[in-house]
Amino acid sequence: MSDLYDIAVVGAGPAGGNAAVVAAQSGAHVVMLDEQPAPGGQVWRGKSSSILSAPATPETTAGNALRTALSESAATHLADTRVWDIRRDGDRWSLQILRNSATEQLTCRSLVLATGAREYVQPIPGWTTPGVIGLAGATSLFKQTLSLPGKRTVVSGTGPLVFFVASEIRRLGGEVVAVVTPNSRAEWARATPSMIGQPKLLARGAFWMADLMLARVPILWEHAVTEVAGQDHVTGIKTTNLKRAGSGPNFDADSLCLGNGLIPQIEASHMLGVAIRNDPTLGGWVPIADPDGVTAVDGLYLCGDGCGIRGATAAALQGALAGARVARDLGLSAPTPSLRPWQRAERFGRAMTALSMPRADVQALTTQDTILCRCESLSRADISAEVSNGANSTNAVKSGQRAGMGPCGGKYCQTVIAALIAAQAGKSTSDVPPPTPRPPLRPVPLGQAAGDFDYDDLPIPKPAPL
Ligand SMILES: Cc1cc2nc3c(=O)[nH]c(=O)nc-3n(C[C@H](O)[C@H](O)[C@H](O)COP(=O)(O)OP(=O)(O)OC[C@H]3O[C@@H](n4cnc5c(N)ncnc54)[C@H](O)[C@@H]3O)c2cc1C
Repeated sequence: MSDLYDIAVVGAGPAGGNAAVVAAQSGAHVVMLDEQPAPGGQVWRGKSSSILSAPATPETTAGNALRTALSESAATHLADTRVWDIRRDGDRWSLQILRNSATEQLTCRSLVLATGAREYVQPIPGWTTPGVIGLAGATSLFKQTLSLPGKRTVVSGTGPLVFFVASEIRRLGGEVVAVVTPNSRAEWARATPSMIGQPKLLARGAFWMADLMLARVPILWEHAVTEVAGQDHVTGIKTTNLKRAGSGPNFDADSLCLGNGLIPQIEASHMLGVAIRNDPTLGGWVPIADPDGVTAVDGLYLCGDGCGIRGATAAALQGALAGARVARDLGLSAPTPSLRPWQRAERFGRAMTALSMPRADVQALTTQDTILCRCESLSRADISAEVSNGANSTNAVKSGQRAGMGPCGGKYCQTVIAALIAAQAGKSTSDVPPPTPRPPLRPVPLGQAAGDFDYDDLPIPKPAPL
């Protein structure tokens, strides 16, 4: 790809999509890249073509508005495109992208990373059994295909997503056997003042709760799932009462939605030299950036959940702030939006994130046999032995055990491994940073990463002197 873009935006969710629209309005030559087939990111994910006629939800409506704004803007959208490496080349950024099964290079003057979040699923015995699905992952299933995780589902996890998922399963005709949440009613009551500024979101939450209560779905507060029964499919769910440290009710179920908050996808910004800090109200390790996306790295801007979990409303507003800022820094004419709406949204988002974070009492539910690293089939006992042998950082566990070198690149296991290192070494998780990020940022076939070459052209080093 020979074009030099003024601005490349990685991620087409609420943050990246709005950054691209606002930056393009200034006259900048903008490209936006995303691995998904359509803009919208995780929360405003587009429907697949087979269910286009299904009734619109608030998420579809917001996503359609973003997709329309993008199609009417001058920004170029590269869909189904994975960014797997980014380098600084003099005064420009060079991005390695995988598109149409081929690797290409794209260059730009300024870069906006809006890479969003991923879900944290707390490993418990049986969590890898078919029929267990991430809580956030389940929302993708509903939005894209209207599919359900099973016929009788237990929905378990922290924060507001657990009630949204349970209510959506019911709306789509499934049976919710129980909602199991480690949060207490008191934690929710304490978070209420932060929610007052977002009445629409508050009303939606009240609707989900009313729906579940009217349907008499049991809601187990301060409980957690301890074990998934079944060999090749889920047959039952065991729970524990966290407050009384005793067993809770068991349920017959064929599926479990399980999630413990979201984690910012910081690999790209961290790899490019942005310093990180630990903030539990933003989802753990976050890169340091101003509200309008400015970082200490020249020409690099961040927005959305990739620089702290603040939710979709804050992500969209921060995208607009970053889009305007990057354009102004390139000498183009762009507005200076007020920070106030973003500040209000971020207050709400932080409160929800604090409720959603993985908790020590739930992390303690893993047993020695529980798989922590799915890609390399490593149990808690395997990782624990490595830590006892002196591996006291995520990098050391990665080198010694390959945890994080599989296809997921550590996205599923690094948080739980860091928590285990912290627990064993008597440290805080804020003393155990994630491993050094390295390309590829996304899986890329080796043949495509190597590109076309002729063996005869490979430089052969001189033999070493004897
Ligand atoms: C699976 C999932 C489901 C969620 N569901 C809900 C929900 O139902 N309701 C809700 O309120 N919140 C939900 N959230 C949280 C919500 O996604 C965020 O608050 C919001 O979408 C943040 O917007 P964003 O633009 O920062 O990131 P996102 O919406 O996550 O967008 C980031 C985009 O960047 C793309 N991307 C990242 N890295 C690369 C790369 N290297 N190459 C190419 N593309 C890349 C991603 O595929 C994604 O499309 C969910 C989160 C997750 C992880």
